[in-house]
Amino acid sequence: MQQLPSNFLDWHRKFASENACIRELERHRWPNGFLCPNCGHDQAYRLKHRHLHECKACRRQTSVTAGTVFEHTKLPLSKWFAAIYLMSADKGGISAMRLSKLLGVSWPTAHAMLRKLRQAMGNRDRAYWLEGIVEVDDAYVGGRRSGKRGRGAKGKTTVLFAVEKRGNGAGYMAAQTLDRLDYSQVRRFAERIVPDATVHSDAFSSLKALAERHRHEARVTPPEKVDEWLPTVHIVIANLKRYLLGTYHGVSRTYLQEYIDEFVFRFNRRNWESQLPRRLIQAAVDHVPIPIRLTHV
Ligand SMILES: [Zn+2]
Repeated sequence: MQQLPSNFLDWHRKFASENACIRELERHRWPNGFLCPNCGHDQAYRLKHRHLHECKACRRQTSVTAGTVFEHTKLPLSKWFAAIYLMSADKGGISAMRLSKLLGVSWPTAHAMLRKLRQAMGNRDRAYWLEGIVEVDDAYVGGRRSGKRGRGAKGKTTVLFAVEKRGNGAGYMAAQTLDRLDYSQVRRFAERIVPDATVHSDAFSSLKALAERHRHEARVTPPEKVDEWLPTVHIVIANLKRYLLGTYHGVSRTYLQEYIDEFVFRFNRRNWESQLPRRLIQAAVDHVPIPIRLTHV
């Protein structure tokens, strides 16, 4: 696997030019060399326009940024690459204010860049299934205070969590904001878990949807015993709440899922921390762009 610079100075030196960034995107998009999406031919002319390849067989022009986070961007790719490093390098993430100062871009631009990268992270992780023993629980998240079902729920969002239990630790996780904790939304979330998994939860009625496609073990748990039955998911929920308060000082409902996606992306790759910037490039290249209004980026 290709090694990329591990410190910011070397990273920025490597990706200081538009050309170097394009070459890197090409490596991620076409790891085995160019492939024409129209006819499958593997030879192309590189056009002077920074992003374009023209197929030598069918003449179709393909942009290396089409279908990626960087499609139609007006920013130099070197700024995107710097943002990718800065966002991945710190466990706590980076705020739009800080990123705007470091890159010399406006706050709305920095905010939009971070949103796009978070969406790419979310898309990447939604492609994976959880397996084995999976603990599922819900929590109220957001705003300045967080609570448990029925407590302090004002201004909070219901979030459903699923975490693989591996021995005394955690495997992969998923988390989804819900309008409310009802049967159909729980059932949809359960599609993120492989059908032959065993799901642990408490006995809340909406969570019975977990029994439709999975082996479901539900226990009535008094609050003081809940950490014994669902220890892994509760550690993760506590970590997420700390993360949101630490870096972002509380997050509004509008962006909560995106912040959660960033937390999950980092959590699921916590054993490959040094590779995070490279993996974020890959997620950004595989990304199917969501049409949100980001005209200034
Ligand atoms: Zn072609």
